[in-house]
Amino acid sequence: DSVFANVVQAPEDPILGVTVAYNKDTSPNKLNLGVGAYRTEEGKPLVLNVVRRAEQILVNDQARVKEYLPIVGLAEFNKLSAKLILGADSPAIAESRVTTVQGLSGTGSLRVGAEFLARHYHQRTIYIPLPTWGNHPKIFTIAGLSVKTYRYYDPATRGLDFQGLLEDLGAAPSGAIVLLHACAHNPTGVDPTLEQWEQIRQLMRSKALLPFFDSAYQGFASGSLDIDAQPVRLFVADGGECLVAQSYAKNMGLYGERVGALSIVCKKADVSSRVESQLKLVIRPMYSNPPLHGASIVATVLKDRDLYNEWTVELKAMADRIITMRQKLFDALTARGTPGDWSHIIKQIGMFTFTGLNSEQVAFMTKEYHIYMTSDGRISMAGLSSKTVPHLADAIHAAVT
Ligand code: PMP
Repeated sequence: DSVFANVVQAPEDPILGVTVAYNKDTSPNKLNLGVGAYRTEEGKPLVLNVVRRAEQILVNDQARVKEYLPIVGLAEFNKLSAKLILGADSPAIAESRVTTVQGLSGTGSLRVGAEFLARHYHQRTIYIPLPTWGNHPKIFTIAGLSVKTYRYYDPATRGLDFQGLLEDLGAAPSGAIVLLHACAHNPTGVDPTLEQWEQIRQLMRSKALLPFFDSAYQGFASGSLDIDAQPVRLFVADGGECLVAQSYAKNMGLYGERVGALSIVCKKADVSSRVESQLKLVIRPMYSNPPLHGASIVATVLKDRDLYNEWTVELKAMADRIITMRQKLFDALTARGTPGDWSHIIKQIGMFTFTGLNSEQVAFMTKEYHIYMTSDGRISMAGLSSKTVPHLADAIHAAVT
C-alpha cells in the first residue's frame, strides 16, 4: 500500500474551484464569473499591446542573459514599483526610507510581509476586513500571525459599515496590524471615500495601528493609477510607517508571470536598510530569488515614457469596459422589473460586484443557467460582455422571483 494512503482528499479552493467546475460543464451557454481575470468583449483573455511590445524589446536585446536575480529581485523594477504606488515625488523615496523587494505577485508579497512581521514586529495580531479575499486569513495564519476581523461591509445598505469599522479598529489593541485594500475592495466592490480614509488614518495613527496595504487593483478602480493610489499616499504623507503589497496581475494583465512587490516604508533610512537585510532572510529559504521575465516586462514599461503612456490608456480601457458592464447589467435588470434595489451594481467599484445573492440562489443559477460564481454572490464584472449580460440578467431575475 502507498505510504500516502491515509492522505485525505482536500476540498477545492473556493475561488479557483469555480473554474474547475466551469471547465467540466459542457453547456454552450456556460459563463465563468468566478475568478477575477479580465476578459475582452469576446470573452477572451487579454495580453496588453504594451506587454507584447515590451516582450519584443526584451527578445531583441542580445545582451540579455538568464542569470539569477538578487534575492530582493530586479533593482530597477523595485524602484519603479515604489514610485508607481507612492508617487514620483514621494518624500519617503527621496529620503531612502522605503525598502522594496520583488515578490511572487500580490500573494507572495503579502506572504513575505507577513513572515517579516511575525519575526520582527511586536504585535502578532492582524485585523482583516469582514469580508475579504479568501486567501488573506490563510496567508497571515500560516505566517504565524493571529487573524481577527473588523466590520467592513453592511449587507443592509450593500455599502461600507463605516461606524462598525471605526468601532472595531478603535477597540483593537495598540500596535495591531491592519490589512487595508488600497482600492477596489475584493469581494465587495465597496471602498471608503477619501474623507473616510482620512478618518481611518487619524484613528490608526492615534492608536499606533500598523497599516498593511494590499494593492492588487491599482488603476482598475477609477482607471487612473494616481487616483487609486491616494489612500496609500495619504498614509505615507504623514511620515508614518506602513507596508504595501503590489500586484501586476490585473493592471498589467501579467497573472501567470507572478510579478509583484512588497514595500516597507520606515521612518528612517537606516531602519529601512536593516529591514531589507531581514527580508532577504525571509526570502532566501522560501524561493531563493524571484523570476526574471515578468519583472523585466514591468520595468521596461515603467521606465519608458511612451510605453508607460500606452499602458495607462490600455488600463483605462479595461476599467471603462467593466464600468460599462455594470451599467448594462443594471439596465437589463431594470428592464426586466427584477424585484429589489440593484443600484449597488453601478455604485460598487473595481472588478467585482457583490450582488447580495445568497448561496442557494447562486447554486440555482449554476444549475439552471450554467453561470459560475463564488457562493458568496460575488461576480467578476470583467468576465461579462454585452452578449452575456442578458443571460446573467435572466438568471438573476429567475433566482430572486
Ligand atoms: N489581494 C487581493 C485583494 C486580490 O483580489 C488578489 C487577486 N485575486 C490578490 C491579492 C493577489 O493576486 P496575485 O497573487 O495573483 O497577484
